[in-house]
Amino acid sequence: MTAGHSHDSDQAHGRVHDHDHSACVAGALARAEASCGERGARLTPLRRRVLEGLADSHVPLGAYELVERLGSSGDKPPPMSVYRALDFLVSEGLAHRIESRNAYIACGRDHAGDDVIVFLICEGCGLTDEVASHAIGRDLAWATRAAGFTPRTPVIEIAGTCAKCRAAQAAEPARAAAPVPAR
Ligand SMILES: [Zn+2]
Ligand SMILES: [Zn+2]
Repeated sequence: MTAGHSHDSDQAHGRVHDHDHSACVAGALARAEASCGERGARLTPLRRRVLEGLADSHVPLGAYELVERLGSSGDKPPPMSVYRALDFLVSEGLAHRIESRNAYIACGRDHAGDDVIVFLICEGCGLTDEVASHAIGRDLAWATRAAGFTPRTPVIEIAGTCAKCRAAQAAEPARAAAPVPAR
């Protein structure tokens, strides 16, 4: 397996804090170009810039945040155009919308149709990783069918603490131990 993003089911990208970040951006753009070429979709310069902006962050970005970021490195695009570019990227599977954050994140994976995407959202630093699970997808398909329900967005968002924030908490015993009464 190569370093970086894994395409296997039931496996997290892993160690996203300690990696060659420029590879994420380059990888996302290469994948977008290949996938748009195959599907006959057009990766316009703005769509490309928006994807680049998203891939440059492992923290989900809101549309306006993205407008500001793009504006600081070049022409500030109109928010409506950024919204449309985000819609395009989401519909092409190149980005995901994180509902609970009202924000977007780039996706570098190919999702199988029956996988459930589980977003792991750190409440400390905002880092968001994704795990695709075929097993959860199968169980969910069974459970929703039993309820006579047709799911449209098979996505689960889980808030918690990322490995880095957990390690940081453990390294600060004074602060971590503060709420625990002395024995
Ligand atoms: Zn994804
Ligand atoms: Zn964190």
